[in-house]
Amino acid sequence: MSISTNLTTLKSKLPKDVKLVAVSKTKPITDLQEAYDAGQRIFGENKIQEMTDKWERLPKDIEWHMIGHIQTNKVKYMAPYVSLIHAVDSLKLLKEINKQAAKNDRIINCLLQLKIAKEESKFGLIASDLKEILDSDTFKKFEYIKVVGLMGMATFTDNENQVKNEFLILKNLFDQLKNTQTTNFKLETLSMGMSGDYPLAIECGSNMIRVGSAIFGARNYN
Ligand SMILES: *Cc1c(COP(=O)(O)O)cnc(C)c1O
Repeated sequence: MSISTNLTTLKSKLPKDVKLVAVSKTKPITDLQEAYDAGQRIFGENKIQEMTDKWERLPKDIEWHMIGHIQTNKVKYMAPYVSLIHAVDSLKLLKEINKQAAKNDRIINCLLQLKIAKEESKFGLIASDLKEILDSDTFKKFEYIKVVGLMGMATFTDNENQVKNEFLILKNLFDQLKNTQTTNFKLETLSMGMSGDYPLAIECGSNMIRVGSAIFGARNYN
């Protein structure tokens, strides 16, 4: 199957209000160009250097989403162009994003990553950390970031019930916090679901899915 066929088939199955982030990490420019030619405009990467190389070489109407865990000292490289940062998991990182956004005279949209999986390997905040951040005076003073949603990754397992429960925990938190709105906090995006679990994620209320291998094929890590 070709990338464009995979994309078209996938998109035909998605509800209109669900945005598709095509996760192109490790894939060559030619693969991204093929997806672009098939109409895809949102791409997700997990390494800042790789995303910046691709941003330089591809059309400028692409929205670049950083979906991976971020090192604070690299935020400056993506601050001029990144559209959405999915995996923000500390006040320290928010502070750096705010600083770099200010330098570029723009507001950077962020999602806060919640830890919903039972696996130790997954990053993210727990609900009490999240509330602590939102209530802090430091957060309230950030003028160059906007938290527009939440992101989460379910446990990698065949147990659908477990995955569903984890997605629903995030959806519940999202619904609770949706009523709270300030100048730098307004929840609209719920980023959950990947190639293996996006139908379930959508069923559980996701409106942004991050799909890689189901579009571009399996990844080779060298
Ligand atoms: C790689 C990655 C994806 C996409 O994974 P696939 O299983 O290939 O769809 C989604 N989200 C994050 C955070 C990722 O790192």
